[in-house]
Amino acid sequence: MYHAFLIKYGEIGVKGKNRHIFEDTLVSQIRNALEPVEGTFTVRKENGRIYVETGTDYDYDELVEALQCVFGIVGICPVVLVADEGFDQLAQAVCDYVGKAYKEHHFTFKVVTRRARKNYPMESMEVSAALGERLLETYPGLRVDVHQPQVVIHIEIRNQINIYSHTIPGPGGMPVGSAGRGMLLLSGGIDSPVAGYMIAKRGVRIDAIYFHAPPYTSERAKQKVVDLAKAVSRYAGPVRLHIVNFTDIQLYIYDKCPHDQLTIIMRRYMMKLAEHFAAEDEDLGLITGESIGQVASQTMQSLAVTNEVCTMPVYRPLIGFDKQEIVNIAQKIKTYETSILPYEDCCTIFVAKHPVTRPNLKSIRKSETHLAEKIDMLMQEAIRTAETLRVAQDS
Ligand code: ATP
Ligand code: MG
Repeated sequence: MYHAFLIKYGEIGVKGKNRHIFEDTLVSQIRNALEPVEGTFTVRKENGRIYVETGTDYDYDELVEALQCVFGIVGICPVVLVADEGFDQLAQAVCDYVGKAYKEHHFTFKVVTRRARKNYPMESMEVSAALGERLLETYPGLRVDVHQPQVVIHIEIRNQINIYSHTIPGPGGMPVGSAGRGMLLLSGGIDSPVAGYMIAKRGVRIDAIYFHAPPYTSERAKQKVVDLAKAVSRYAGPVRLHIVNFTDIQLYIYDKCPHDQLTIIMRRYMMKLAEHFAAEDEDLGLITGESIGQVASQTMQSLAVTNEVCTMPVYRPLIGFDKQEIVNIAQKIKTYETSILPYEDCCTIFVAKHPVTRPNLKSIRKSETHLAEKIDMLMQEAIRTAETLRVAQDS
């Protein structure tokens, strides 16, 4: 029934030159998102609007689902296009549209007409009034309410005429690519994929880094992270994923430092390595799934000590979220089921029974002096042996 979709996007605060960048980025993100969807689609910018035109052969639900993953889209309006063959034909088409688009024909409505083509023989107000009349004649259950109608039927007179009245909510946010890049520390847990999603929502392109500890962590644990990166890429576009072997560094810390400080020292080296790859990828910050107080390594004291090694900003979009709130988003973005698969994580394998919850920076630094002999070499080795994948929806 629908031949096109009108894409509504947020414009507040996006003005002047930025508006063009925003729109062009959005158009290209829509094109990318539709690539894996069966059918032929044309994405067009016209008079400050974006349209997705479809062929006849496509799956409506699949298309809408793909569009609902494109940040920057606020609403998706399925549009019926009719040729301009005079008012009677138009009135008939609008009545047919209402007949098909609504099961029940008991609601209040108004018609809003816009003429993009000023040579149309009737004024906009006249068109609206005349169409309203026809609808009332055809569907006795309808009533006009110009102030708070339940349904607004939009008529746009262009070369063809657009009819639409439904708005399906989009994900909001800013189109990916309209801000900079960020480096997501992606583990196999619930939180970090959600953190990546949230930062991508602000228009940031996502690179990711995963630390594994073979043979203590398995190939399946690694595949789980690749799958999570893929789920994030549904929203964020292709993700560059660095997989870093952290085993020797972890064993070395385990060997040389007090065990109750292991996690925190490990986290500091993760951040340092993440910064190395972030600089290479031209990222403007690190992204983690931390939230205050969630575990020992996320008390404010621990976060401060972890943060101390970073020279880049660290974005922690979940910092004030409760676990359940994070889980709700994970379920919505379909990462939850993968995240709860029970594969071992490098943070849990050597973990102390009673990790420090209020680490003292001086004491942590002192412990780290025990690593002086080999740590630089081990970090270089981890960098040298890292594997980089491009993870995308269709890969
Ligand atoms: P998550 O659910 O994201 O794993 P978590 O609650 O398990 O988080 P931690 O294990 O303390 O918390 O990790 C805190 C953050 O550190 C994670 O959100 C992630 O950004 C990063 N991180 C932890 N482990 C790894 C890892 N193996 N590789 C990459 N990043 C990691
Ligand atoms: Mg974790």
